Amino acid sequence: MSKATNELDLIVVGAGPSGLAYGLGAQAAAEASGRELRLAVLEAADRVGGWVHTRREGRYLLETGPYGYMDKHPELGSILSRLGLAERALAPAPVARNRYVFVRGKLRRMPSGPVSFVFSRILRPRAKLRLLREPWASPHPGPGVDETVTDFARRRLGPEAAEALVVPMFTGIYAGDPDRASLASCFPRMAELEAEHGGLFRALWRLRKKVKRSGQGVGAPRGQLTSFPEGLSTLMEALSAKLGDALRLGSRVTRVERQGEGFLVRIGSEEVLSAARVVLAAPARRLVDVVRGMDPKLAEILGSVKYGGVSVVHTAYSRQDTQRVPEGFGFLVPRQARRELLGSVFVSTIFPGQAPADELLLRNVLGGVLQPELVEASEDRLREIVAREHREILGIDAPPLFCEVERFPGSLPQYEVGHGELLGRLERRLGRYPGLHVTGNAWRGIGLADCLAKNYAAAREHFGGKG
Ligand SMILES: Cc1cc2nc3c(=O)[nH]c(=O)nc-3n(C[C@H](O)[C@H](O)[C@H](O)COP(=O)(O)OP(=O)(O)OC[C@H]3O[C@@H](n4cnc5c(N)ncnc54)[C@H](O)[C@@H]3O)c2cc1C
Repeated sequence: MSKATNELDLIVVGAGPSGLAYGLGAQAAAEASGRELRLAVLEAADRVGGWVHTRREGRYLLETGPYGYMDKHPELGSILSRLGLAERALAPAPVARNRYVFVRGKLRRMPSGPVSFVFSRILRPRAKLRLLREPWASPHPGPGVDETVTDFARRRLGPEAAEALVVPMFTGIYAGDPDRASLASCFPRMAELEAEHGGLFRALWRLRKKVKRSGQGVGAPRGQLTSFPEGLSTLMEALSAKLGDALRLGSRVTRVERQGEGFLVRIGSEEVLSAARVVLAAPARRLVDVVRGMDPKLAEILGSVKYGGVSVVHTAYSRQDTQRVPEGFGFLVPRQARRELLGSVFVSTIFPGQAPADELLLRNVLGGVLQPELVEASEDRLREIVAREHREILGIDAPPLFCEVERFPGSLPQYEVGHGELLGRLERRLGRYPGLHVTGNAWRGIGLADCLAKNYAAAREHFGGKG
């Protein structure tokens, strides 16, 4: 590489949520300690946000990527305060508490507590009895065994509950193959609860007492789905504004190399920057060629992460035509139902500002690792599938007032069995390059909340800031 033209403290590669949050955390840490931070955040595209992208399309606010994040980490509050967004965070409508699963030919409401569980028709009586035996389920197969999501759910809850409750939840997040996915990496909290309390019911019971003591209500999933009146891009734009001149769009990083104690970072084919610390926050599969010249083994580790894709079809109907659609968050379709739709989110019920009051805007997800052909399928075919699924599942006979198809091939990293070991290999390899850090959704959490909070926290730690 040619000689560096700049000397920086930190270069962040990729201005998706992970990279932006890391940049913000580094800025916050430098500010707290009264140090100057020479920072560059390099983004290949001509906008920030990565998969996060809100668009106004006529009467609708479309979130083509993620549509909200779970406010489950305290760092998220710090990020919002720092950006002046704390007052603008938007909570879901209360009715969004109702979630549905398509089981035995019908949409059935997910139980929200023990009483609704008894009356729920999602599980048949035998499966309910099996689930109630969870405290006596056989223990985890032992240290060193990375159990799949399916094996864990079947062992603890029984086969019917596994397929009707756990697998759809997994698919709704990862659109992956639950028979290959690592429980400990996909749902680390579940694995921890079993390890610490000896079972899920025991853990729920003990935590329920703790939650009661804290006076925060019982039984709710951790965190609340959060967005903003103008969508999630509000957050990305605020992050971008805060980073100011440090942010450089249209700057594709093509190579990273070690130089003395620091690194050289090549942008395109011409420009080279140098920095003491480099954070690679682009998708793992995009970084393979970037690091290959420096370390083929590191490239091989990055290239081992598998990705799946999805198609997202937004449809809007007149409320008159959706009278049989239950009010709520949306529904998931278990794989045993053998349908082509993975699930639908009733976005304008959750966040009513996203469509006119007399319409229902739905976000429908298809494809995933188990039906990859639906990421490639023609728009007409995807529209037909959604129309058919809505007719048969939701009883909607009318054509939509609006329909738009977007595809996200290779967008969702899969935390398969062995992911923890792969992460260990990555960290050991990075041990050879003090100052080089690899992050992004391929490693320590795929949800937006993890990408934001963990990177903000990591930067504060790396740069020595506290609160
Ligand atoms: C369709 C879809 C729906 C989702 N829905 C939700 C949801 O509702 N809630 C939720 O919590 N999570 C959701 N997720 C997951 C979540 O959105 C992602 O995991 C998260 O946005 C990833 O952020 P990231 O910064 O790690 O990566 P990315 O968003 O992939 O950002 C990486 C950035 O790096 C840039 N880049 C790539 N190569 C280079 C290079 N060589 N040089 C410079 N820059 C480069 C890219 O252009 C991109 O901007 C969804 C994901 C998808 C795909």
